[in-house]
Amino acid sequence: MFAAIGAFLADHGLSPDPANYAFAHDVICNPQGARAIEVRALTSDGVRLSGADVARLGGVTEGGPLADEPGAPTSAPSPAAAPAAGEPGRDDALVTRTIAQIEGFSDTLQSIHSETNHFGRDLAETAEAIRTGGAHAGVERISHLTAAMIERVHRAETRLEQAKSETAELRAALEEARTTAQTDSLTELINRRAFDEHFAALAPDTPVALAICDIDHFKRVNDGFGHAVGDRVLKLVAQLLEREVACTVARYGGEEFALLFERDDEAAVLARIEAARDAITARRLRDRDSDRSIGTINFSAGVAHGFAGDTLTQLMERADRALYAAKQAGRGQTIVAP
Ligand code: GH3
Ligand code: MG
Ligand code: MG
Repeated sequence: MFAAIGAFLADHGLSPDPANYAFAHDVICNPQGARAIEVRALTSDGVRLSGADVARLGGVTEGGPLADEPGAPTSAPSPAAAPAAGEPGRDDALVTRTIAQIEGFSDTLQSIHSETNHFGRDLAETAEAIRTGGAHAGVERISHLTAAMIERVHRAETRLEQAKSETAELRAALEEARTTAQTDSLTELINRRAFDEHFAALAPDTPVALAICDIDHFKRVNDGFGHAVGDRVLKLVAQLLEREVACTVARYGGEEFALLFERDDEAAVLARIEAARDAITARRLRDRDSDRSIGTINFSAGVAHGFAGDTLTQLMERADRALYAAKQAGRGQTIVAP
């Protein structure tokens, strides 16, 4: 938590005073809270929070070195990142919980089993009593036995019901962990592993186009404005790509995105990539910290058409060569591999 708060303050260039610390603590601990949602909305375009933002959102810091960004296009708050999922320790806790629950099931089944055994033994004793003392002697025992049986069945039902709801909870937590393992935490796109799995699951005769989009001169953004602003630019590019290309998009490497089109012809693939380029280059980004324009962000792309039965490695190699050619030809363009 300490490290996360430190990173948050550093990202936004906020001084580590108690008020900012408390603000960061609240944003990190309550990712669904109004403040955290507003912070995500404010920062989704690659800009830092200003001291004035912190003050407006209920922090007490005034001023600060960062400027507001009037008229910046805003986007809806990104879906809340699963707050702690993927954080160190979180997966361990899930494993511990799963093991504890499996042990709990085992205890429940064991106790239901032993009660059934008792019940069998009581029944045998009652049968014996009826045999030796006659039906009359057995009536009272049977009545007791029935009451005890109802009570045990009720107890077992309650325990099973509880186990059922715990299982549902655990299933949801495991599902969340699985999603986290397949998601890039910065951009919330699927990661390389999920992309590769998706490709591997396609029928071999599926016509596919693999595109690699690499942001142009991205190092300049980092060098000129800092890594935190670079991160936000990456998030914005990811959002716009995903919105425009209508295909499977993954963050495949640092500032590289992989796109997988299924059953689209060359013209359709190019049209979608160029629509994404238009949306990205239309954005005017500004760094609040220095009040300088970040300039236009663009990317180069290489596309390889083939079939899902081709290996991903082969398609990647072809797309990579086309990407290299696009960079060589001056960047900001898409080249289709022969
Ligand atoms: P080119 O047009 O040739 O692709 O130039 P480039 O500057 O984009 O390429 P280069 O490979 O030289 O630099 C890529 C930069 O991307 C370097 C690295 O620091 C940055 N980068 C990679 N991953 C991240 C990230 O997660 N966040 C930030 N902020 N930067 C990243
Ligand atoms: Mg690159
Ligand atoms: Mg690049």
